[in-house]
Amino acid sequence: MKGPQTNIKSGPGSKRVSCSYIIGPKWEPTVGPSGITVYVVTGTCALCGATEEIRWLRGDQPELVARAFQQRGWRFDKYIARKCVCPKCVEEEHNMATRTATPAADRAAPPQQTGEEVAPPPRTPIDRTADVTAAMRPLSTEQRAAVRRELDQYFDDATGAYIDGRSDKVIGQQLEIPWKHVETLRELAYGPLRGDPKLDELSKRVAELQTQTTRLASTVATATEALATVRKDLEAAMRALTELRKRFA
Ligand SMILES: [Zn+2]
Repeated sequence: MKGPQTNIKSGPGSKRVSCSYIIGPKWEPTVGPSGITVYVVTGTCALCGATEEIRWLRGDQPELVARAFQQRGWRFDKYIARKCVCPKCVEEEHNMATRTATPAADRAAPPQQTGEEVAPPPRTPIDRTADVTAAMRPLSTEQRAAVRRELDQYFDDATGAYIDGRSDKVIGQQLEIPWKHVETLRELAYGPLRGDPKLDELSKRVAELQTQTTRLASTVATATEALATVRKDLEAAMRALTELRKRFA
């Protein structure tokens, strides 16, 4: 039998604690007349939980396993599971890093003490992406679960907005993790933030009506005052008229 190398020690479903992946036999009923047992190595994405299986006959060789996943676009650490990220999440992170790299660089720029223009150090977009991505240490399973719990509770899928004053940043602060991780997970699970046009419209209308109410109330106060004065004058005039009529009667 052309089997896997003898240094594969794991049985079905067994887990290598020391490595970031699992190697084990897998029954493939669709291969051959009645199916065959194949050996696969399974990698799991630390960010989204996606798994990928690679047919594997080369034994438990961490270096080779890591390289195989890396060749498929993974960021893969042979020993540390939380450093294994699937190609989709790697791309997401890169997109996010590229999008925010410029403002981040602006914030980091020292205040210009002299009046002269200080040119920022030349950096290519690729360098910048690599820097920011490197700064983003992957979350632990517990941290990701905590973020998901917050999102489930405080993100309204229907409106695409947070409720109860939550935001990526607020949740990041509460969980003491970079809020960009919250953004990444939120975008993966729920998509981008959407403003609520109905809410915006209604807020504007309320503000308008408040202005009108204030203006009218002040108009009414002025008119009431004027009315009282005129009424007093009228009463005085009527009394004078009555007196005069009596005199000429
Ligand atoms: Zn992933």
